[in-house]
Amino acid sequence: MDHLDSRFTRRALLTAGLAAAAAACSSATRRPVSSRTPSINPSPPATPTTSATPTSPPPDPASVKANELGVIPVLMHHRLVDKVDSEYDMTPAWFRAELERLLKERYYPVTTLQVARRDLGHVPAGRAPVVLTFDDSSRGQLHYDGSSIAKDSAVGMLLDFAREHPEFPAVASFYLNKDPFAIGDPHRVVADLAKHGMEVGNHTYDHVPLRLSAAKVQEQLGKLAAMVGAAVPGLQPRTMALPLGVEPSLPALARAGRWRQTTYRNEAVLLVGAEPAHSPWHKSWNPAGVPRIRSSSYGGGTGEFLSTWWLDQIKSGAVTRYVSAGNPGHVTFPKKYADRLAPAYRGMAVAY
Ligand SMILES: [Zn+2]
Repeated sequence: MDHLDSRFTRRALLTAGLAAAAAACSSATRRPVSSRTPSINPSPPATPTTSATPTSPPPDPASVKANELGVIPVLMHHRLVDKVDSEYDMTPAWFRAELERLLKERYYPVTTLQVARRDLGHVPAGRAPVVLTFDDSSRGQLHYDGSSIAKDSAVGMLLDFAREHPEFPAVASFYLNKDPFAIGDPHRVVADLAKHGMEVGNHTYDHVPLRLSAAKVQEQLGKLAAMVGAAVPGLQPRTMALPLGVEPSLPALARAGRWRQTTYRNEAVLLVGAEPAHSPWHKSWNPAGVPRIRSSSYGGGTGEFLSTWWLDQIKSGAVTRYVSAGNPGHVTFPKKYADRLAPAYRGMAVAY
């Protein structure tokens, strides 16, 4: 990443070590993971979209330290369990601590799709977008207490946290496989995720690495998309997370394809490792390979979170994060970063 000091990137990879290489999934079998760094080839930018119209003039960008070309942490979670027994786990207490930290450090949760669509105009001035992703649709992420979402599930905790802190909305992106959350009722869980404003993403039907034939890749993604569409008519996953970080031999099939009557299209493809993502306005933003930061404890479940290391880097100023200007329809940044802007967005630039 050109604007991340190479020392930090290297150190992160060293520090992350096995974590970065193996951060994958909670499936019982561990496989070696291709943990590639994102390609530097941006695809042609999509038409910019914004989601809000300001009702009052935006603040002076310097006063809120606006920088919409900074990095966005996309945090990757797997299992939420009471007793940690793998490096893919976190306890409810740890997740709660993460939410507390993100709030304290002025992050604001958005979905993967909002980043991919540059739909970040609603992020309040001075706040920094963060994406909370959950892979594998395991039980701890969403389960029920009678007819209610259980308070110790990730969804329940997000909803409770947002009730306590309305300035930190319950927003996250869930990457599902077949029989999501092992409840045996895809309709119910997909409808509940959608009802609460969560993004429903595609993690393939059978959770298999996608080094498969073109037909099988499309079956894996199309079948999951069909399950989501059957659960909530009209709803389609629009971003996906690669199982074990493995790309299809034909990478374009992660973005779009067809299985039987179902076409699918993913506007962003999430990788497994291991650094913050570029701003979607940055010239190196690449929706075909969006890196994530592992937010669970490596070292057999007892070590530090990789996310702790990266959030510390951002907090120290070693890595500059995306900070909203609260000025939808524009891209605001300090003049010294002007060469990082993707040329397609020069007409929207506010450099200060
Ligand atoms: Zn997975």
